[in-house]
Amino acid sequence: MKLEHIGIAVKDLEKSNKLFATIFNQQPYKEEEVESEHVKTSFFKTGESKIELLQATDPTSAIAKFIEKKGEGIHHLAFEVADIDFEINRLKAEGFELIHQTPKDGADNKRIAFLHPKSTNGVLLELCQEKK
Ligand code: ZN
Repeated sequence: MKLEHIGIAVKDLEKSNKLFATIFNQQPYKEEEVESEHVKTSFFKTGESKIELLQATDPTSAIAKFIEKKGEGIHHLAFEVADIDFEINRLKAEGFELIHQTPKDGADNKRIAFLHPKSTNGVLLELCQEKK
């Protein structure tokens, strides 16, 4: 598995895009809304990995709930896998709780599934696989 990206929950994507564009001295290479997750996202390339900024588009979004509880900050770590269906079944068999029982469409042309943080030491982990 490779660290594909780090997801950061933000209140205002436009403001945060400017902030991170200054830090990284580059513009986001992509902005995308994921309607099923009620989020707007943007992506920066940082070497082998990426930074994903996520802003809620409505109060039912997991990102809105996260910010309400914990404030802005690191939301999840995403690891790229070669076969997401295999990894989901493998981790389920190992006793891990998954938020998504089957992969769903995520941002940046990926199939994704999240592991529940209560079975992963409090860290929200995303498995992702590039769509062919
Ligand atoms: Zn992500």
